[in-house]
Amino acid sequence: MAYLDIKRRIILYHFFLVLLLVGGIGYHQYKYQLQSHINSAIQYHLASSSSIVSKFSKAISGSNYANIQMPDFITELKRNKKLYAMHVVGNSDYTKQPFKVFYKQSSGDMWREEYPQNYLYDIHSQLNKLQELLLKKINSDHIKINFLIERNQEKIQRYKKSILLSKNNSKLIDSFKKLKVTFINFKTKKLFISIPADNKNGGRVQLIFDISEIEKIKLHILENILYESIFALTLSLIILTILSRQITSPINKLSAYISKNHKEHKLSDVPCIKRKDEIGNLAKMLYSLLEQTENYENRLEKLSRKDPLTGLGNRRELESVFSNIEHTEKTLTAILYIDIDNFKKYNDHYGHNMGDLALQKVASSIEDSLQRKGDYAFRLGGEEFAVLFSVFNIEEMKNLGERIRQNTQNLEIEHKLNPPQNVVTISIGGYLKKLNSEKKATKILVEMLNYADQNLYLAKKGGRNRIVISQQENYCKRSFPNVLPR
Ligand code: GH3
Ligand code: MG
Ligand code: MG
Repeated sequence: MAYLDIKRRIILYHFFLVLLLVGGIGYHQYKYQLQSHINSAIQYHLASSSSIVSKFSKAISGSNYANIQMPDFITELKRNKKLYAMHVVGNSDYTKQPFKVFYKQSSGDMWREEYPQNYLYDIHSQLNKLQELLLKKINSDHIKINFLIERNQEKIQRYKKSILLSKNNSKLIDSFKKLKVTFINFKTKKLFISIPADNKNGGRVQLIFDISEIEKIKLHILENILYESIFALTLSLIILTILSRQITSPINKLSAYISKNHKEHKLSDVPCIKRKDEIGNLAKMLYSLLEQTENYENRLEKLSRKDPLTGLGNRRELESVFSNIEHTEKTLTAILYIDIDNFKKYNDHYGHNMGDLALQKVASSIEDSLQRKGDYAFRLGGEEFAVLFSVFNIEEMKNLGERIRQNTQNLEIEHKLNPPQNVVTISIGGYLKKLNSEKKATKILVEMLNYADQNLYLAKKGGRNRIVISQQENYCKRSFPNVLPR
């Protein structure tokens, strides 16, 4: 599966959840509403058919049960527009035999399903008798006999029609036979109602109603549920988007900040997330973590630029200070390269610990000799130091160098192997230059240190405990024999 960010995952999973809930609730709502519509339809049709039930219940149990088929009854049935078909079964007081009648609304036909066993035979024998009577030509009975013949012929016609209708409506008759309780056939959209006949002989009135309007109701319910679902889903999508944005937006801000290059991290740029929840805590913790890291980094940076023995800045610090040095039109930049004389011998004679102590004292002495704010002292390594400062002329530089040299000597640290003073002394090589921004600062620094080192070599060669300085375009030309040891 393709990668999905938290925001999309929150929306997607919750959307599915809401979809499931809305679907579930919608389905139950649909069922419930449909059922209540069905119940009210049943109640309505039961009420509307109560007069039919009572009328037919009485008729089937009476002696003139065959009257059921008379127009009066059919008119009553036709009035109920939703009635599709009816089946009445009962026991007549008169014949003591079951009497079954069907009715179909579409054709308006009402017919008997079962006739007594000798029904047709009895009618025919009656007809024969009547015809014989008619042949005897008894005038007084002529009209009556004709009437009876007509009635029996009608009965035969009705019988035949009933047989034909029963044959043609076998499916309808079957459905009535299966009908025992009230139920709905959604396929045919018919409501079946079965009610006990309201008479002392028993029987049953079974009615089928057309409920094709249920389709419309179904659609209406579904439409309503669909609108409600769409509304619920839209609302939940809006809420989910807001919620997921509330969660992911600060996380994204924090991760965008963290993913930046470590050097670009500034505490002031940490996204301001003032929340009291877990995300707020995370932002707070990140801020304090970065604060600690920055403090550690600063401390480490300071330590990495400091010489642990003397506390002076080291070569890295010199490079950094040099590249940030402020120079004006009139000022010149001076570097002094300082080296303790015969220090190997000192170590060999007085021991390494004493050597360290001497290094610390010389370092302090050099630092103390600097009085101005922009003067810096560094330990370059071993027994070598450097001093960086700005002056207006070489005289100023010479004076400071001489003061440093003198102050070291004045420390009077015993050094029997450094004649003729027999105390610790230093030699200084210096170089003075007018800085410009043509070259890179580190390159100029290396260049100046090289010149100063060469001057230091001259100072050593000249007898030590002295200072040799030169300036740009005047390299190695100026030494100070006047400051030779006394
Ligand atoms: P020169 O007058 O020509 O400079 O002679 P030097 O003996 O001072 O010079 P060299 O380079 O021969 O010896 C430098 C010595 O400085 C070697 C070492 O014993 C000593 N040294 C360097 N670093 C330290 C340190 O951290 N502590 C101590 N105690 N001694 C150091
Ligand atoms: Mg040295
Ligand atoms: Mg030395």
